[in-house]
Amino acid sequence: MIPAAFDYKRAGSSEEAVALIAEYGDEAKLLAGGHSLIPMMKLRLAVPTVLVDIGRVGDLSYIDDRDDHIAIGALATHRSLETSELLISECPILAHVASKVGDPQVRHRGTIGGSLAHSDPASDLPAVVLALGGSLIAQGPNGEREVKVSDFFTGYFESTLSDDEMLTEIRLPKAPGDSWNYQKFNRRAQDWAIVGVAAVEVQGATKVSLVNMGSTPLRAAAVEDALAGGASSEEAAEQAAEGTDAPTDLNASPEYRAHLARVLTRRALEAAGIS
Ligand code: FAD
Repeated sequence: MIPAAFDYKRAGSSEEAVALIAEYGDEAKLLAGGHSLIPMMKLRLAVPTVLVDIGRVGDLSYIDDRDDHIAIGALATHRSLETSELLISECPILAHVASKVGDPQVRHRGTIGGSLAHSDPASDLPAVVLALGGSLIAQGPNGEREVKVSDFFTGYFESTLSDDEMLTEIRLPKAPGDSWNYQKFNRRAQDWAIVGVAAVEVQGATKVSLVNMGSTPLRAAAVEDALAGGASSEEAAEQAAEGTDAPTDLNASPEYRAHLARVLTRRALEAAGIS
């Protein structure tokens, strides 16, 4: 499939990118790694008339230690997360989950900002970022605003970002140590998760999130509450499908996804040593 015709603009900075998307409004789309947008354009599910290429805004590729948190530029690629010594030491679950995204080509081009802005409930990074918590920085024509990760995902492929805003930075708490695990159930190694589960200890509390169990990435609140109340990981995992609205597709029915969520949550909690 060939995308519809579009104009191409290259932004040299986030300010320039925001000015361009403000100028062209909902006709324009930011282009980061292009590994979600271009396939959608080829299928004509997205038909922007202007593409604003932010792929060369080099100053947004950082992964920085800011003492009480880690700051990640929106254009950091999945590959740079996977290989970051800082993340491997201070937030190993994020480095690991990045290594499970697609194949090497996808990981070299795709960016964390693109993955979060795309807000696909079947994607890996949105769910792990939701489990970790923290906040996201959105830059618009009137300056920056900070959004809690828990408020960011609003619907199927929807976030709180408006048409004239660009996600610039991801701020995450540190979660060092071994108390984490990610379970991704798929049929082929490079596929999206049929269901995924992230479990991680963050600042003394166990956080659990689910991939592909609703219209957004979801926190498994019932599991977290059960664990906080003293339940074993096996007992808590039985609550994993509570409050979810799993989709149906060629891979799985909602009932099968609910079963997977329970099994994968138990495995994730046990592998993380959370009992
Ligand atoms: P783009 O495609 O450039 O953009 C995606 C959307 O986000 C667009 O609407 C764009 O306008 C917007 N956007 C981009 N950056 C910003 C920003 N900074 N601020 C505001 N809006 C922005 N993902 C997984 O999680 N797991 C997988 O297993 C997986 N497998 C894949 C396999 C294949 C073959 C392919 C092609 C993709 C796969 N992906 C998978 C998706 C991949 O991770 C994408 O790269 C990622 O979801 C989007 O990042 P991007 O930088 O490519 O964004």
